[in-house]
Amino acid sequence: LSVFVFFNYLIIYFRDIKVNNPKKHITGSFKLMNEVNTTLVLDAVRISGGMSRADLSRKTNILPATVGNVIAELIDKGLVVETNIENKEQIAGRPGKIVKLNDTSRLVLAVDIEPERLRLAVSGLNLNIVGYSEFPIDRFTVSKEIIRKIKIEATNLLSINSDWQRRLIGIGVSLPGFIDSENGIGLSSTNMPLWKDVPVRLSLTEAFNKPVRIGRSMHLAALTEKWRRPEIRDKNVLFIVLRTGIGVSLLIKGQLYYGASSLDGEIGHTVIDPGGKMCECGKKGCLETFISSSAIKERCIEVIKSGKAQALYNSVDGNMDNITTELLYELANQGDKDCESIVREIVKYLGMAAANLIQTLNPHELVVCGKIDVAEKILFDELNKVFKEMVMEKMLSNFKIYLSPYKERAALYGAAALILEEFFALPDLTFPSSLIGKEID
Ligand SMILES: [Zn+2]
Repeated sequence: LSVFVFFNYLIIYFRDIKVNNPKKHITGSFKLMNEVNTTLVLDAVRISGGMSRADLSRKTNILPATVGNVIAELIDKGLVVETNIENKEQIAGRPGKIVKLNDTSRLVLAVDIEPERLRLAVSGLNLNIVGYSEFPIDRFTVSKEIIRKIKIEATNLLSINSDWQRRLIGIGVSLPGFIDSENGIGLSSTNMPLWKDVPVRLSLTEAFNKPVRIGRSMHLAALTEKWRRPEIRDKNVLFIVLRTGIGVSLLIKGQLYYGASSLDGEIGHTVIDPGGKMCECGKKGCLETFISSSAIKERCIEVIKSGKAQALYNSVDGNMDNITTELLYELANQGDKDCESIVREIVKYLGMAAANLIQTLNPHELVVCGKIDVAEKILFDELNKVFKEMVMEKMLSNFKIYLSPYKERAALYGAAALILEEFFALPDLTFPSSLIGKEID
């Protein structure tokens, strides 16, 4: 791993040289130079979605002949394809061609474990999902059973196409709660009491013989945005990730922030009412006792019992066990006043927590990830109101709120991006066998 890390530093070092000396083309016959050039070209191809050779040379400051060599190699590896530009975009006088990623030439399996749901997806190099499945679990499901289900479901998903297993480069997994990413272990989760010391990497490596990486949902949701939106690469961005619980993540000038033990982001367990309800984490009055999905459900039941929100009651035919946040958001969006006021209450708590972070961190942007996008108008309206009250005006002048289009799948996409990010940074674009499985260090 240290060699790999060192190599990445070199790439960054050479990139800096290039940035500081835009006129100087970096060329050379060194293997290392070739690898740096390959990384730069691939990065430009990926981010642009497709570019002509001439534009790639301009964009990367690499000589056209060298770009040609790199592209030839990449075509040979099947990673990129060169296609004709559509007529309207043709460069005058000659038929234009653009170089694009060969999206499904390599595939990633992404897995997202939530207390009540498992999601699996097969993604191409552009983070386009080509195969998907999800199924419900119980938050009390034992970990062995969860791993068993993932193996079965993944095998089914990968057999949709007879060639998918062969093209698979790795498996990224979004885990609930706390993790030991170094050893690929899911440590524990407040929302899943039976999820304890689960050797996720070992189990999945044994089953699929591919590199397995794990991450936490809030980090992975942020990674998705970083990967898909190059414009935030040099920004400071705060993410709020709404799932069963609530987490935050921070992107600092394009780098994800990880706490001392990677346990950062647990805003759901910051205490906002010291005398409040008991939380699953053992403390009282955490933010999650107000706005976790189970707290929201409880609140809905309370409101229904007081004789309000009858539309919500009717939508589950009186079986209040079936109330979900999705249903609540949908009814609020359709204009049901009682549901709307519950959603406003939720967003208000969310906004207060976010406002304190914005006041402290002064980010360029806040990204909200989660199903709450259904009630987009209420969300924006209430957040703006809270921020206006709680954050200094100066901090809001260039500040933006952005709703992630990946909704509740943000962490799933991020699990795929975890593998892709590593793959695109590998010197020869193949995971060496030493990177597969336990012996990562
Ligand atoms: Zn708590």
